[in-house]
Amino acid sequence: MSTAQAQSPAPHTTIADLQSFERRYTNLPFEAILKQDILRLGLSFDGKALSGIEFKTKDYFIFTFDHVPLAEQSEEIRFRAPEEIRLSGGPFSLAKTVVSVRIDPSSPYRVSTTDRGPALFLGDQFLADVDFPPVPAWYRHTTSSGKSPGEIAPVIEWGYLIYLTVFRNCQYFGKDEECAFCDINHNWRQQRLQGRPYTGIKSIEEILEVLSFIDKEDTVAECYTITGGSVVTDLQKKGETDFYFQYIRAIEERFPGRWMGKMVVQAWEKADLLRFKEAGIKVYHPNYEVWDPELFTKLCPGKTRFIGRENWIRRIVESVDVFGPSHVIPNFVGGVELSKPYGFKTVAEAVKSTAEGLDFFMSHGVVPRFTTWCPEPYTTLSTLEKQEKPPLVYFLELLSEWKRIFEKYKLPTPPGYGPPGPGQAVFSVSAFMDVIGYEGRA
Ligand code: SF4
Repeated sequence: MSTAQAQSPAPHTTIADLQSFERRYTNLPFEAILKQDILRLGLSFDGKALSGIEFKTKDYFIFTFDHVPLAEQSEEIRFRAPEEIRLSGGPFSLAKTVVSVRIDPSSPYRVSTTDRGPALFLGDQFLADVDFPPVPAWYRHTTSSGKSPGEIAPVIEWGYLIYLTVFRNCQYFGKDEECAFCDINHNWRQQRLQGRPYTGIKSIEEILEVLSFIDKEDTVAECYTITGGSVVTDLQKKGETDFYFQYIRAIEERFPGRWMGKMVVQAWEKADLLRFKEAGIKVYHPNYEVWDPELFTKLCPGKTRFIGRENWIRRIVESVDVFGPSHVIPNFVGGVELSKPYGFKTVAEAVKSTAEGLDFFMSHGVVPRFTTWCPEPYTTLSTLEKQEKPPLVYFLELLSEWKRIFEKYKLPTPPGYGPPGPGQAVFSVSAFMDVIGYEGRA
């Protein structure tokens, strides 16, 4: 394994780069290396590869996760791209690898059509066969309010996770409060400007209606996530914890234990969390986003002002008493430590800082996970400066550190993410699940 490099390699990868990383990072499956690079650089699509076949398209379940605005995407691509792609075969003999789709027409990774169906190319080089996710049978229904199931209760991770963003805005609003990397409010605006029905606050009734379709017809989904933006004052005359609690109570009363309940919300006090555990929530994701204290303040101004980093961290650790350590899985945004203008100048500093946070949480039995920072166009960071995508070496160092510390503390596979390891993992926005249990190669 290498030491982290201070200088960034060219942002676009070549086959020779991939081969070189494969030789250097023998602790990581090649599937994880490629997945991180595709997530980092995004995907471009040949419109022909998307026509004539049926598949589940992007539901824009919380953020855009695109590198270009919807309005600037071609008609062939906009709302036509798949939620995820699944790679296999090719010159690297890839095991099945599920990767979230982030549209970027300038990406060197391109999905084109071939005689055998869609395939992934890096420049002109064929890299892998591609599958698109199937449309769940229950997507054919319409709710009594006339909405499609994918608008109310979309599935991601190849159908494994029902993603319930019940509040599609955040009351941390504008550059002085919104997290600087987050496009939840901008996504909502873009979807509406494109004329999509994009429900801001989902009703309990419509969620239960779609879950009843899933309950009857689906055999793939195993978990649901309740999430949405922060509530600073009140929403529909309810405080934040009451607002989110009503959904969980309704779901668990109607379908007790049918799916594993997870929630991605702010860091709340232990006393507030007890009723969520009693109601049926198994996994708690109080996302800390970025470990470095100064960066947390700069990148999460709303969370800093209303809760504060020290409180946030204390609450994460204390929530272990409620859910159990490995069931507390706070996310951080991998790569945002390198964003401009506040971020670290070198990969080594960024990884060192984040590894310190990983060690702190994992020493308490908590299992942080990460997503791959996607510099969406309308975020505060993108309006402050032109953002460069973090180099691949950053993600490979980060994955190496995540794996090393996870193994040092002998932690269990995080619940609610499906099976781990190359060829098995379905978590699509980073490769942390792909590396679990990998024993390395010569
Ligand atoms: S708290 Fe931050 S990351 Fe979460 S929705 Fe609000 S702005 Fe986005």
